[in-house]
Amino acid sequence: MSQGLVTASYIIAAVFFILSLAGLSKQETAKNGNLFGIIGMAIALTATILNPATSGVEWIILAMVIGGSIGIRLALKVEMTEMPELVAILHSFVGLAAVLVGFNSFIDIQPHEVSEIVVVLGQDLNTTLATAKAAFVEANAAQQAEHLTGAMLNIHLVEVFLGIFIGAVTFTGSIVAFAKLRGLTSSKALMLPHRHKLNLLAVVVSFILMVMFVQAGGAVTPLILMTLIAFAFGWHLVASIGGADMPVVVSMLNSYSGWAAAAAGFMLSNDLLIVVGALVGSSGAILSYIMCKAMNRSFISVIAGGFGNDSVAASGDETVGEYRETTAEDVADMLKASDSVVITPGYGMAVAQAQYPVAEITRKLREMGIKVRFGIHPVAGRLPGHMNVLLAEAKVPYDIVLEMDEINDDFADTDTVLVIGANDTVNPAAMEDPSSPIAGMPVLEVWKARNVIGFKRSMNTGYAGVQNPLFFKDNTQMLFGDAKDSVEAILKAL
Ligand code: NDP
Repeated sequence: MSQGLVTASYIIAAVFFILSLAGLSKQETAKNGNLFGIIGMAIALTATILNPATSGVEWIILAMVIGGSIGIRLALKVEMTEMPELVAILHSFVGLAAVLVGFNSFIDIQPHEVSEIVVVLGQDLNTTLATAKAAFVEANAAQQAEHLTGAMLNIHLVEVFLGIFIGAVTFTGSIVAFAKLRGLTSSKALMLPHRHKLNLLAVVVSFILMVMFVQAGGAVTPLILMTLIAFAFGWHLVASIGGADMPVVVSMLNSYSGWAAAAAGFMLSNDLLIVVGALVGSSGAILSYIMCKAMNRSFISVIAGGFGNDSVAASGDETVGEYRETTAEDVADMLKASDSVVITPGYGMAVAQAQYPVAEITRKLREMGIKVRFGIHPVAGRLPGHMNVLLAEAKVPYDIVLEMDEINDDFADTDTVLVIGANDTVNPAAMEDPSSPIAGMPVLEVWKARNVIGFKRSMNTGYAGVQNPLFFKDNTQMLFGDAKDSVEAILKAL
């Protein structure tokens, strides 16, 4: 394949990626969006492999076969509820790749110090390998040095430094996000004393190290020191963010992984990687902005880390009054007597996989002439659009699935609200209790309806670890049990 054809393929792939993003912005076109993304990626990979400048193709293919098999196995096995963790761990791979590409680019332009590293390595490893590697590095570096001098070298050094910094922050931040989302560590915020100052210190010290790195024409010590600081910074940034604010972190890491890929693109002088990285980085940033708006958080405090945790202690598990229980039969009667019903699903619907009976109940009630709509909170579930995906999977018509802003004014005129596995997203404490960790977050104002039914298995709290006064209100009744079983029981009684 000629170089011109490779460039043309990259441009076509980039257009497909842009079409993919456009498609993914609406439920109706999301499938096409995915298809465009797959086509774009297939073109990009083929062009890269057939590029005459690409060497070691057999290694690339071997890596693709191993990585692809693991990816396919995981994708087939993963439950919808585990998607957020999968996304987080994938972000960490992008971060790690940027760190490795960064060090590789550094090795390419640093003949002497790297030779030293290779010699050190060679003491433990096979000497033949070390000698061959050193020879390769020297030859490569000499070639690079011819091209990279003066300002160009400095620019490249800054690229390397920033690429590694962004990659390292993304890597450890995503691992902490993975651990939190998977429940391996507590979702509560780590509250180190002076945490904002620590973050600031990490940024300032890294900046000083960058100046030292560039002034020295690329010295290994500041680079390694910065990498360690960036690892700790990424870990701390995400560890200090509390459960309810995790959605913003997920989208923010999405954005960071894009910038890490773009940085790798600069280091490798690969235009397509720069374009794709910028697309992912900016769409992630837009998503973070939308999430911040939805949660009433400031964008700057998100980037600074540890936002929204200055409130007084969480309300915890303690109950806040008496709650009433109901039965599936009584709920069925209540629904039959209603003119309008709103369903507000949450993470529990995903856990129970209750979307199919929920879609069935919707169909049945509509056939009975009852107006049924869905109210979706932007952070319901565990990843942006989680509920929309589940409802689309169960073939709920798109036009009755409304965003929070579109439905909030209608609750006062609603007869019955079914809160199916939602908790934090329908918690009135967000509006009524300034000391709550979720204070200020806009929520679905379901308590304004005539009747509210809470579908849960217990009186446990939601992801933010905050008790929900909604479940103790006079117009609320609890239907305990797995959401799928409960909805199926109501369906039977209807
Ligand atoms: P929550 O996590 O607040 O609550 C889920 C509720 O579902 C729990 O109260 C649980 O109660 C119930 N539940 C769990 N399993 C079942 C089941 N099988 N049957 C019936 N009920 C069940 O959910 P929300 O969707 O309201 O809120 C999402 C939370 O997750 C927010 O705090 C958000 O900030 C956070 N988050 C969102 C992300 C996103 O991008 N959307 C990403 C990361 C975090 P019980 O155990 O008693 O059954």
